[in-house]
Amino acid sequence: MQDLIRQLLAELGEDPDREGLLRTPKRVDKALRFLTSGYGANIDEVLNEALFTVDYNEMVIVKDIDFYSLCEHHLLPFFGKCHIAYIPTNRVIGLSKIPRLVDVFSRRLQIQERLTSQIADTIREKITPLGVAVVIEATHLCMSMRGVEKQNSFAVTSAMHGAFRDNARTRMEFLELIKLRSVAPAVVDSMPAGYACIGED
Ligand SMILES: [Zn+2]
Repeated sequence: MQDLIRQLLAELGEDPDREGLLRTPKRVDKALRFLTSGYGANIDEVLNEALFTVDYNEMVIVKDIDFYSLCEHHLLPFFGKCHIAYIPTNRVIGLSKIPRLVDVFSRRLQIQERLTSQIADTIREKITPLGVAVVIEATHLCMSMRGVEKQNSFAVTSAMHGAFRDNARTRMEFLELIKLRSVAPAVVDSMPAGYACIGED
């Protein structure tokens, strides 16, 4: 990868041999491998010994989870907050593992819509809750830095399943708790791919 980064620097009109750039290929290599380390992560290992059987059927919410990801159309960052809620049947995920779950899917080349649904689908698959809701609010540098479609550089996506989809009061309770009333239910399912980041340009 370091040879490619050197070529890229030259292609951009830079001199890869000048002092400030000498170690850049190595740094970029390391940074990119970290930022895409989610590909190598194993969900079951991440959640290992953190799925518990409990007698608890109230909503579990973890909000304001910071995440950083790379948009797959431009390889530029998008980042923001992820809010997750679920209603257990008889299984819960250890609270400290939920941000790790977000990391596994955000440290990849992503689009915001897929990131949202992958987190929701994994929770459904692992603990079969009565319902799960994931809302992501993010700023896309591919939009804001390039000065295009500025009004869309901040995007909200959501995935609502089970009780959060079927029961308006449950959904409103969640949206009230994360202070985000404007999100329509299950918008992620009806959204065209690439809504958050317009991939054509
Ligand atoms: Zn983009």
